[in-house]
Amino acid sequence: MTGTAVVVGAGVGGLATAIGLRRAGWRVTVRERRTEVECYGTAFALHPGAQDALERLGVGEAVRARAVPYRSAQVRTPGGRVLAQLPLERLERKAGRPELLISRPYLIDALLARLDALGEVTVRLGENVTDPAALADGYDLVVGADGINSAVREAWFGSGSGPRKVGSVAWIGIADLDSAVHGETWGRGRFFGLTPIEAGRTNWYAAVPEGTDAAGLRALFEGWHDPIPRILERGDPATWLRYEMRHLFPALPTFVHAGQAGKVALVGDAAHAMTPNLGQGACTALLDAEALTRAVTHHGRLALPAALRAYDRERRRTAQRTALASRTLHRIVSTERTWLRDTAARLLPG
Ligand SMILES: Cc1cc2nc3c(=O)[nH]c(=O)nc-3n(C[C@H](O)[C@H](O)[C@H](O)COP(=O)(O)OP(=O)(O)OC[C@H]3O[C@@H](n4cnc5c(N)ncnc54)[C@H](O)[C@@H]3O)c2cc1C
Repeated sequence: MTGTAVVVGAGVGGLATAIGLRRAGWRVTVRERRTEVECYGTAFALHPGAQDALERLGVGEAVRARAVPYRSAQVRTPGGRVLAQLPLERLERKAGRPELLISRPYLIDALLARLDALGEVTVRLGENVTDPAALADGYDLVVGADGINSAVREAWFGSGSGPRKVGSVAWIGIADLDSAVHGETWGRGRFFGLTPIEAGRTNWYAAVPEGTDAAGLRALFEGWHDPIPRILERGDPATWLRYEMRHLFPALPTFVHAGQAGKVALVGDAAHAMTPNLGQGACTALLDAEALTRAVTHHGRLALPAALRAYDRERRRTAQRTALASRTLHRIVSTERTWLRDTAARLLPG
């Protein structure tokens, strides 16, 4: 079937949904509150399932050209002792290809280029959607891809679920060096992660208690194994990003509304924002986008409610399980009880 759709939000989830709907012949309008599509950010992990979704959206090759494989990583103590291997090799053996890492700007660029090549998608920038309920009058389908503070979610699904803080902030950045070690280093109530991103550069992230500023960040990781203190000492805090770590709580009872008043679906963070511990934020948004567009493609126009319910069945439980696992991992790695943290590391299926 085809029809008209409005996608609210031009992040990873919104752009991918617009591509999928346009490929299926829909007339699509994207409305983004920012005056340009923001091309900043650090690295995203793309597991093989998300790579398949990108392939089906026609963006696989463009993404592979800018991504790097993530093949080997360990969990360490602050002194550098290896506690466990992250299960990357096992995942690669199972999928027949490695997990990839891509810088957010490259992923956004690839999605925008694809949208441009498809043509006939109207992207309206600088449009903050303040009355999402009214959108149903003008479009067959409204997609809420407007992130954790989703106005579409609030308007159509109420305020029963909302963003909840988890007591930590994440600082993220890219260092101009190649690191010999990758993975995560788990300390008492804080942790530091290092991943490849491209030659000569290393992606890093640190989760620390709320209220930690850049100077406090350096102090918290003083004496940790190389290159952590080096990255923080030499880095320019003006280039670092600070995120409040939040997740959507409680989990939504549905990702879709398929009543007389309108047909609405949520994708990405709007539907299931999660803590970043499993590195699944972009992957789950891509899987949602591909599943939603596949569902509506394979149903007739009058069957849009059935298509939305099929999307909800395919994605809701899986995405919410991922969010719960990510939150649980956050609790473990943020604990002050190092025995609990070290035991959990040893249980990782490396
Ligand atoms: C600029 C930016 C940089 C990021 N950098 C990183 C990073 O480095 N590492 C990381 O792990 N995660 C990062 N994220 C988060 C990550 O992209 C998401 O968690 C994940 O990709 C899911 O994406 P999403 O499309 O569901 O939501 P988001 O990426 O949050 O996109 C939502 C979009 O909707 C728009 N929007 C919100 N409300 C409205 C409204 N009322 N009307 C119109 N538009 C609206 C927002 O401006 C935004 O562009 C970043 C997000 C943004 C927006």
